[in-house]
Amino acid sequence: MSRVVLITGGARGIGRGIAEAFLRAGHIVMIADLADSGAWNYNLADRSTMDEAVSQLGNLGDVASVPVDVTDSASCQNAVKETLGRFGRLDVLVNNAGVVASGPISQFEEKDWDRIFDVNVKGIYLMTRAALKALSDSNDAAVINTASIAGKKGSAGLSAYCGSKFAAIGITQSLALEFAPAGIRVNALCPGIVGTAMWHDHLMAGQGEAQFRERMTTLIPLGRPQETSDMGDAAVYLATAHNVTGVALSVAGGMEMN
Ligand code: NAD
Repeated sequence: MSRVVLITGGARGIGRGIAEAFLRAGHIVMIADLADSGAWNYNLADRSTMDEAVSQLGNLGDVASVPVDVTDSASCQNAVKETLGRFGRLDVLVNNAGVVASGPISQFEEKDWDRIFDVNVKGIYLMTRAALKALSDSNDAAVINTASIAGKKGSAGLSAYCGSKFAAIGITQSLALEFAPAGIRVNALCPGIVGTAMWHDHLMAGQGEAQFRERMTTLIPLGRPQETSDMGDAAVYLATAHNVTGVALSVAGGMEMN
């Protein structure tokens, strides 16, 4: 059955791959992302990124967009309201919006630490809380949180990001138990390394696609980075696997096996 899927951070990168996979599987998609990218150490999406995604994915099925800032409670509530107004219900929430910053903790700025936790952690709480009533009204509801393999193992220079992703997995497990009596499943998707803005504009900024792929051949057991379509396939699986809840599924080419 066709379900209505709301995807935060859905205008580009992994979120857009997830949107495409749900559309290809016959579902209805609301892309929710920033209307104004604001100040960060690399550019985030903006209204034009969302418009482009909707126009390019529109031939695959029913897709629309709504501006959201997942750090703002009223904005999260509005995104849910707009989804219900447009499509009449909400069955699947994908908490995918995220930001990264890296560096040794001695030089790591407090505002960057706060922003990472506001988007990557508090954003899950605010969006899930805003969507809960609508999800409870669905007879086939699921929440998917985009965590990371960085939520299973620490890395030097990534304490804020890893900490936020460990938190995302802890929240996933807790909500899976809390929502199980209501039949709402909650799972985490843990991407390995996907060549999005996070890598090209921050973690390996200034290095080209060839250098990125070259580095991944040694870093990843399967010898290649993951694609946004891999994340889309995994998200559709998690949304439709009716006896699976509380898992943190690594899609990482063997980089992480727990
Ligand atoms: P990306 O920067 O392309 O996508 C992140 C999206 O989140 C952007 O569209 C951005 O505009 C949006 N966003 C940021 N702050 C927001 C806010 N306050 N409100 C609403 N939207 C906001 O990067 P990506 O790699 O596609 O990241 C998607 C998710 O995947 C993130 O949660 C990230 O941590 C996770 N992830 C990425 C990788 C990777 O290798 N790229 C690996 C593991 C996990």
